[in-house]
Amino acid sequence: MKFDNQMTLVVDAKTKNESFIRSTIAAFCVEANPTLSEINDVKTAVSEAITNSIVHGYDGTDGKITIAVGLCNREVFITIIDQGKGIEDIQKARKPFFTTKPEQERSGMGFTVMESFMDNLIVKPNDSGGLIVHMKKKFGD
Ligand code: ATP
Ligand code: MG
Repeated sequence: MKFDNQMTLVVDAKTKNESFIRSTIAAFCVEANPTLSEINDVKTAVSEAITNSIVHGYDGTDGKITIAVGLCNREVFITIIDQGKGIEDIQKARKPFFTTKPEQERSGMGFTVMESFMDNLIVKPNDSGGLIVHMKKKFGD
């Protein structure tokens, strides 16, 4: 897809990078003139995906997360890629309240949050291992 503007970040899968990633994406989206509520939706969805890569994908081991953001006609396209352990049954994992870490008081709502805060969510295996999450949102709808 041809974007008006595009950026890619590659960061260590560490919790301390989450707020930096959220703010960077928000700053990048400013030119598309989102409302505060729209940008908060994007930040929340991105946080859920990043947390998943750190907590489930790499599960305490070192790794990188790639975050690609594209803008086109006031629509933002975000892709989050990890090379972690991946998900065996993606359909099942996307269901509300499904979690493999109930002992950590996870509620199993991350994918549901991403789905409801964004216009579209695609979750697929990364061919080289790990997970790819695509999400998009149109501003000004
Ligand atoms: P919550 O997000 O509410 O804290 P959760 O992370 O368990 O809980 P989801 O974000 O909906 O819930 O994810 C559901 C399940 O999918 C996780 O429990 C985990 O098993 C799996 N999962 C999600 N993202 C990844 C990932 N990047 N790599 C490996 N497994 C993942
Ligand atoms: Mg989660």
